[in-house]
Amino acid sequence: MTFLEKLECTRCDASYSPDQPHNLCQCGAPLFARYKLEQIKQKLKRDDISNRPPNLWRYREVLPITETKVMVSLGEGFTPLIPAQNLGEKLGLENLWIKDESLNPTGSFKARGMSTAISMAKRLGIKEICLPSAGNAAGAAAAYSARAGINTFVFMPKDTESCFVSECKNFGAQVELVDGVITDCAAKMAERMKGKNWFDLSTLKEPYRVEGKKTMGYELAEQFGWQLPDVVIYPTGGGTGIIGMWKAFDEMQKLGWVQGKKPKLVCVQSQGCAPVVKAFKEGKESAEEWKKPETIASGIKVPKAIGDFLILKALRESQGTAIAVSEEEILNSVKEISQREGILPCPEGGATLAGLKRLVEENKVTRADRIVLFNTGTGLKYTESLKRIFL
Ligand SMILES: *Cc1c(COP(=O)(O)O)cnc(C)c1O
Ligand SMILES: [Zn+2]
Repeated sequence: MTFLEKLECTRCDASYSPDQPHNLCQCGAPLFARYKLEQIKQKLKRDDISNRPPNLWRYREVLPITETKVMVSLGEGFTPLIPAQNLGEKLGLENLWIKDESLNPTGSFKARGMSTAISMAKRLGIKEICLPSAGNAAGAAAAYSARAGINTFVFMPKDTESCFVSECKNFGAQVELVDGVITDCAAKMAERMKGKNWFDLSTLKEPYRVEGKKTMGYELAEQFGWQLPDVVIYPTGGGTGIIGMWKAFDEMQKLGWVQGKKPKLVCVQSQGCAPVVKAFKEGKESAEEWKKPETIASGIKVPKAIGDFLILKALRESQGTAIAVSEEEILNSVKEISQREGILPCPEGGATLAGLKRLVEENKVTRADRIVLFNTGTGLKYTESLKRIFL
C-alpha cells in the first residue's frame, strides 16, 4: 500500500491526483508529492529501516511506490559517507565527510531520481520519455528506461564529454546533440516533441525525480545515527539535490525521526554560471537567466532553473549561503580530493571543497561542525576535460 496522497503545487493551492501523469501545475510551478505522514508515523519506526536492503527503497513509505515488483531498481542509493580526515586536518576541521554519490548506478546521484521517476512512469503506462541533460541525467534515464522497456529521447549540448553520449547510445536511447547549453537543448526538445507522445522528464517538470533525490537527506540522517549534520555543501544546478534534501528534513521532523536544528545548506556554483548565487546575494526570490554560461562542471552549467525560487527559499530557511568559485579553484579541488582522500570526484564535487575553503576563510564554520561535501558523481566520465590537470 502506498502512502502517497496527492501532488501539491509548490506555489498555489492546486493539487492533483497521482493516478495520472503530471508535469507542472497549471500556474507553471513544480509539483511536490505529499504523503500521509501521520499514518506512516503510526505504522513505521525509524529503526525498522535498519534491516532493509542498502538502497534508497529502504525509505519506501515516503516514496511513491511501495511494492517491490513495480520498482525499477539497480541498487541506487545508500552510498557511503566517508570521513575526509586528511582534508579535515589540513583545514582545521574535526568532522568533515564526503557523501560519495559516484558509487550509484551510472556513476552519479541522478540514478536516484531516475529510479523513482521511471518506476512511476512505468506504473502510469508511459511508453516514451524525453529530457534535456548535461550528461549524467541522460545516462541514468537511458539506463533505467532500458530496464523498464521505455523509449528515451535525450538532448545534450554538442560539447558534452563523449563518454556520456556513448553511454546513452549503448542503453538504446536516441541522442540529439544541440548547439548551446542545457536551456537550448530544452528549446530544441520542445520543438521535436510536438505531435509526439513523449513524457517530459525534465528536472522538476516531473514530480518524482526529486523524490528519489530527497533520499540523500534521509541517508544523511540515518548514517549519522539520526542526528542531522550541521552543514551540507552541494554543487547546485537545477536544484533538485538541495530542494529534495530540504523536503526530506521537513518530512523527517514531521515523522519524529529527527529533532533540533536542520543543517545549513550551502549552494556552490561556478563563477562562470552562478545565477542562484547572484540572486541569493541580491536578496531576490528568483534568479535571472545567466548569460553565456561557462564551466567545466557541466552538471551545474544551468543558466536558468525552474525551481530557482525553491532553492533560494531552502537556502534562506536553513540559514545557509551560496558561493561562487573559480574554474581554477574547481580544478585544484578535484586534484586535492583525489590526492588526499583517494576519491576521484567530478568537477561539481570538486567545487564543494572550493566552497568549503571560503567558509573556513570567512569563519562561517567551526572546528567541531559536522560538515558534508557532496561528491555528486564520478570523475571518470570527465577524463577528457580533466586531462588538463593531471597531465
Ligand atoms: C546534475 C548534477 C548536479 C546538479 O544537481 P542539482 O541537484 O540538479 O542541482 C551536480 N553534480 C552533478 C555531477 C550533476 O550531474
Ligand atoms: Zn500552482
